[in-house]
Parts: sequence; structure tokens; C-alpha cells
Amino acid sequence: MGQSVVIIGGGIAALTSAYTLANKGHRVTIINQTDTNSAPSFGNAGLLSAFEKAPLAAPGVITKTLKLMLQGKSPIVLRPNLDPHFYRWLVRFMASTTRARLKKTLILFERYGEQSIQAYHRLTQEEGLDFDFHHDGVMLVFTEAESYREKLRHATDSSKYEVLDYASAKERLGFVAPNIEGVIHLKRNGRLDPGRLMEQLKALLVRKGVCFVSGEEIVDFDVGPKQIKSARSKTRTYEADTFILASGHHTALAAKLGTPLMLIPAKGYNITFEMEESIKPKQCVMFNDLFIIATPRQHDMRLTSKLEIGTSNPDINMKRVQSILANLKTHTVKFELQNPRYWAGFRPLTPNDMPLIGRDSTYRNMVYGMGYGWLGMTFGPALGEIIGRLIDEDLENHQSDDVLLFSGFYQGCL
Ligand SMILES: Cc1cc2nc3c(=O)[nH]c(=O)nc-3n(C[C@H](O)[C@H](O)[C@H](O)COP(=O)(O)OP(=O)(O)OC[C@H]3O[C@@H](n4cnc5c(N)ncnc54)[C@H](O)[C@@H]3O)c2cc1C
Repeated sequence: MGQSVVIIGGGIAALTSAYTLANKGHRVTIINQTDTNSAPSFGNAGLLSAFEKAPLAAPGVITKTLKLMLQGKSPIVLRPNLDPHFYRWLVRFMASTTRARLKKTLILFERYGEQSIQAYHRLTQEEGLDFDFHHDGVMLVFTEAESYREKLRHATDSSKYEVLDYASAKERLGFVAPNIEGVIHLKRNGRLDPGRLMEQLKALLVRKGVCFVSGEEIVDFDVGPKQIKSARSKTRTYEADTFILASGHHTALAAKLGTPLMLIPAKGYNITFEMEESIKPKQCVMFNDLFIIATPRQHDMRLTSKLEIGTSNPDINMKRVQSILANLKTHTVKFELQNPRYWAGFRPLTPNDMPLIGRDSTYRNMVYGMGYGWLGMTFGPALGEIIGRLIDEDLENHQSDDVLLFSGFYQGCL
């Protein structure tokens, strides 16, 4: 008989960890405070972009952002506030934008991105899930000559890059207008419909015996000297051998255990609408200099953008939505937003693009699945396997090469 595991959360971190553990015979309960499809794991762009794409903490990002902020065009919005945690995060972020860190991050992205892509292939082929998964790359569109030239210098390996002119890419780009500088197809990336993935994965987990408790917020823990005895909601107590905290950008529960996690919420938006098939892109289009992703989905289109830090206000600011559309429309043909839906959510952002995975240093039976950042769908399955193995094989953090390599706990996030 396996262990009993209670997972607090309900996004990609929770579901992929549950998948590994259920396959290994453990008894898993997932407790989620919402029961709607509102979490970031449902509302994101669905781009799987581990390859040939710079991380957020990259050299030059600060100067570039400040320049764009002064011009009023920056996709990154910094809202200063009085929270010292926010400033500690910013200092770590700035310290992470080095060439040495970039080299390491790109290698780790390749390694865990590849594992995740393989895992998504298995979910479709072996488990029969259909979540609009395409391993067809991303079309990186440049609207600034300087950034295009810079990327071209690196785009030499034809197994990874395809440099295209507008005419040859037109069919695949759909609504993109000719007034762009260039297009580079990053061949190894992929995409999926995150909402469908989450729904199908949840149904699969139910079939595998995982128990879901929705609409239940965990507010505290009962602890012994070195272990968590139970997790408590306002009305119930949940006992288990092991607990996983996978609560996205919500860090209050970790703080109660004396573990302040080095992550902050980074707000982003999506606009989902129906689009005429004749101008719908055939592949995911990423506007490199506008920081806008356009993902074609089976029945609609999704635009995602903005990275607002220093706020935890969940409201949809229509001015931000309008600015995304205004920026985008300078480089597209005319298109109509048919039946538009607007959404805002938070990325759980660490200062150096590393997730926070591994055991708590005091309470060994608490495992974190946090800090998935702006790439939670890209790395979710690989991280779920790492967390699942840590618990299944009863490893300490230092006995897992993957935790040592890819967890922010060992890579500069403490
Ligand atoms: C605009 C935008 C675009 C993005 N685009 C991409 C993309 O293209 N590709 C990519 O790889 N990633 C993308 N991401 C990032 C990705 O969505 C996140 O990394 C990922 O969803 C995080 O998953 P999670 O499971 O950690 O958290 P979440 O999805 O936030 O789930 C956390 C869950 O925990 C629950 N919870 C919190 N506290 C409690 C509690 N106390 N008790 C019970 N339940 C609790 C919440 O209700 C929530 O359901 C994007 C994010 C945003 C915002």
C-alpha cells in the first residue's frame, strides 16, 4: 500500500505530481480552493517554449525594460510598493541577469523542456488524452530591426531554426501584416490548449483513483517537531503521510511553516476570441518585441501579454487590455474580436527562472511544487516526475540530482 499524499493546489503543479504518484500506487487527494477554470494553469497561452528562447532573467533585460518604460511601450510593468519582500526579489533578479546564469539556465531549460515534451507525447499516445497538443514550433516575429539582427546572429543551426521572409511565412502567420522585420521559426517548441489539458488530466486522475476536493481553502497546518500532521480548512482536517504545497503564487502557507518562498506574483492577461479561419495563424506566433503571444486553438484564438509586478490586484484592467490590442494591431491586418473573453492571472515568478521544488528543511514530509513562473506548462510534466520520484523513493533533496540542478532552493533563490 502506497503513502497517503495530500496536495494543496489544483493547477499544473498539483495535477502532474498527482499523475506520477497515482501511477506509482500512492493514495492522492487534491484540495483546491477554487472549482472554476480561473487559475493560471487554465488561462495561459499554452506555449511550450523551453528551446532557443531567452529566460526572463537575461543579460540586458533591465536596460531594455527601462528604455521601453520611458517610451510607455514596456510589456513589463513595475509597480513600486512598500513590501520589503518585493525589493529582496528585485535585488535577486538583478543579480541573476548574468551571462554565466544564462548559460546554465538555457541548458536546464533544454533538459527539462525535452522531458516535458516527451511526457506530453506519452499523455496523448498512451493515455489517449486530446488537448490540442502540437509539437510544431513557434513563429518568432520581429518588429524591431535591432533585435532581429541580434537573433539572426545565433540562428545558424538549421535543425533548430528556420529563417523565413514574410512571403514564405505568410500562410502560417495568418493575421500578421507585412510591416515586420523578419520571422524565425523556432522548430523545437510546441503548444497545447491549457484548459483542455487540465480538464482531461483531471478526468484521467479521477479514473486512476485520485480524490478531488474543490472549493476548499487550506488555512493552516497542525505540526509536530519535524513533521506536518495535518492540513486544516475552516471546517475539516486532512491527515496524510506527505503533503505537497502547489498553491501557485499564494505563499502564505509556506510562510506559516517558517519558509518564506522567494517568489512574487506577476500579472498577465489573456484575450480569447473567435477568429475568421482565413486569417487565423496556423502556428503559435510570438511577437518578440511586443511581448505578445498569439496561440491558434481548435475553436478560437488566444492573445496573452503583460508582466506586471508589484501588484496582487486580480481585477481586469481594461486599459491594459486595450494597450495589448493597440500594440498588436500596428503589425496585423484588420481583424475583429468575435465573442471576446478577457482574463487576468498571476505567474508565480522566482528571481532566476528556477522553480522551487523539494522538501521543506524543517518539515520533511512537506514537499514544495512552487515557483513555476512564466513556464509552468512548459516544465509541468518534468517537475511532476521529479516531485513524484522524491516522494516515491523517499529521497532527501540532496539525493535527487534533479532537485539539486533545477530547484531554486539550490540555484540562488533562498
Ligand atoms: C498570462 C499568462 C500567460 C502564460 N503563458 C504561459 C505559456 O505560454 N507557457 C507556459 O509554460 N506557462 C505560461 N504561463 C505560466 C503558467 O500558467 C504557470 O506557471 C502555471 O499555471 C503555474 O501553475 P501552478 O500549478 O503552480 O499554479 P496555479 O495554476 O496558480 O494553481 C494554483 C492553485 O492553487 C490553489 N490554491 C492556492 N492557495 C490554496 C489554498 N490555501 N488552499 C487550496 N488551494 C489553494 C488555487 O486556487 C489554484 O487553483 C502563463 C501565465 C500567465 C499568467
